[in-house]
Amino acid sequence: MLLAVSLLPAVAGSVEAKDPLLAYGARIVGDDARSRIVIDFDREPRFSVHYIANPERIVIDLPATAFGFPAKDLAARGLFKDIRYGKMDEESARIVLTTAGPVKLALAKVQADESGKGHRLVLDAEMIDKQAFAELVKTQSWSDQSEAAQTTSAIPAPEKTAPGDFVIAVDAGHGGIDTGAIGVDTKTEEKQVTLAFAKALTERLNKEPGIKAFLTREDDEFLSLSQRVLIARQNHAGLFISLHADTLKQKDIRGATVYTISDKASDKLAADLAERENLSDQIAGKETVAEPPEVADILLDLTRRETQAFSISLAESVLNSFKDQVGTINNPHRHAGFRVLQAPDVPSILLELGFLSNAEDEKLLLDETWRGKIVGLLTEAVKRYRAAVIANGG
Ligand SMILES: [Zn+2]
Repeated sequence: MLLAVSLLPAVAGSVEAKDPLLAYGARIVGDDARSRIVIDFDREPRFSVHYIANPERIVIDLPATAFGFPAKDLAARGLFKDIRYGKMDEESARIVLTTAGPVKLALAKVQADESGKGHRLVLDAEMIDKQAFAELVKTQSWSDQSEAAQTTSAIPAPEKTAPGDFVIAVDAGHGGIDTGAIGVDTKTEEKQVTLAFAKALTERLNKEPGIKAFLTREDDEFLSLSQRVLIARQNHAGLFISLHADTLKQKDIRGATVYTISDKASDKLAADLAERENLSDQIAGKETVAEPPEVADILLDLTRRETQAFSISLAESVLNSFKDQVGTINNPHRHAGFRVLQAPDVPSILLELGFLSNAEDEKLLLDETWRGKIVGLLTEAVKRYRAAVIANGG
């Protein structure tokens, strides 16, 4: 480490954050009893390993890393059902290996390669029994910097809010290690589409006097679903708008949909979508924390019901703006148990702008002119909603 640092020009601050490691090659071999992953780095990576249950996953935490190898080189096989890797925040990256059953890493170490210049991270996984896996999960320690990296994350705040300003949290769906859906034609990642729309919408809303919009994430980083809700609430947002562009198995379905929260889904499509969206934390190797049992609280219940009425009114305002202007699916206002919409006191909608599984929609989602049009219509919808709330003494 000393040697590596001394080769770099003397700059103040964190060298790693500005100069991520490069993972330039990857290989995977093995069967359903043993599997080996090898990843080539340009410098020696510090790493830590953790195990998470339900479903069984191995999490490798790394400093900021650029993953430069083709995705097919690390396609899931052998013991691994799913392999994800990517950015968590400015200082950290993560590899999440979802396994077909209980496993452990019999070997996890960095070796020099033949050239002496590269460094190889070698991970040998082998099957173990359920009890041994439970023991691994129980006895491991998270008390290293990887845990700190998970819990920090500064709360972005809207710029200069004045009393009486209408604060709006604009949430770009997915991010970092969670790419979201992938486009059929161009392989565009949903996380990029949502961020581009979120930025454009925030900028457009902020041109309106009395409106202060801000982004929950400003670049390609991972935020858990509860972090998104928390950011909105801590900034006293009066609205939360989460933007998405998912895929469906039915490739012919296209158009926008607006979702609000409910315990019972309006239909199968909405239920499936919410279930997939709610997997975001799992993809990023977050522990699935059991929800605390609902405490019967009449006041909270009232707040929730009132918030839900506002959410529905916003959803209707958006669909009114879209009428004859933007294509929507049949019954475009649907509802399901989206965890990102669960703030009890912030009216929230999730807008599916279109589907990356449909080639025509994909074209629109990448079209800047269309984006501008949508952003304008959404701003009209927000203003109409706001006027109605004020008229009703809200
Ligand atoms: Zn999505």
